Amino acid sequence: MTSAGLELTILGSGTSTGIPVIGCDCPVCNSKDPRDNRTRCSALVRYAGKTVLIDTATDFRQQALREGIARVDAVLFTHAHADHVHGLDDLRVYTARSREAIPIYGADPTLEAIGKVFSYIFDNDPEAGFIPRLETREAAGPFELFGRSVTPIPLHHGGYPTQGYRIGSLAYLTDCNGIPDASWELLEGLDTLVLDGLRLREHSTHFNIAQAVEKAEKIGARRTLLTHLSHEVDHERISKSLPQGIELAYDGQKLTVADR
Ligand SMILES: [Zn+2]
Ligand SMILES: [Zn+2]
Ligand SMILES: [Zn+2]
Repeated sequence: MTSAGLELTILGSGTSTGIPVIGCDCPVCNSKDPRDNRTRCSALVRYAGKTVLIDTATDFRQQALREGIARVDAVLFTHAHADHVHGLDDLRVYTARSREAIPIYGADPTLEAIGKVFSYIFDNDPEAGFIPRLETREAAGPFELFGRSVTPIPLHHGGYPTQGYRIGSLAYLTDCNGIPDASWELLEGLDTLVLDGLRLREHSTHFNIAQAVEKAEKIGARRTLLTHLSHEVDHERISKSLPQGIELAYDGQKLTVADR
């Protein structure tokens, strides 16, 4: 088996409301540019013939139909905010078909919060066909997944801890406005970085675009995608203002991450 790098798909590049925002009449919400149409933030990584989801966003069903996601082999959760977990129930079509549990990884508090929100899944007999069969696995440090090491990257999201993930030379860091000192060494030698860059104005729990650009330049990945974008971000206009190697993510974007 060769190590042919990773295939990354941006399933959703939008902030928690999705774009367009319900009832909003702003230029971005009215934009005809498909890159301004953003479902809730999530990504898909494919390697070694396996499909690994990062979060199950509110729009997961729509994303799975759009991208033809025929199977899900594992889910990595960044945190338990609604926009990142509310698509969880739709995993049941996969486990009903395969009759195998899907492992879901996350920090302990994240798994605990998911267990509370979706108590009907975790309190019921998984043989019941109307709930997904899931197996929770705490991701407190690096672990092996389908032949590759996956490293959780602790992050600050306001006062709330979240974690990004590094797989090979890809790092996916959403929902953050601070990178703790100990996390920097986990981000060396990246090919591709996906980083939270909510909007132009500052925010109490997310990097804005200027802060994300500054962090991205310090991290120094070959290519950086900014994600979790709000309706203040006009793709065409803001893209032109970004330095080389840094771009805005968009729904359905696919790229190959080279091994470094
Ligand atoms: Zn979010
Ligand atoms: Zn708007
Ligand atoms: Zn969040």
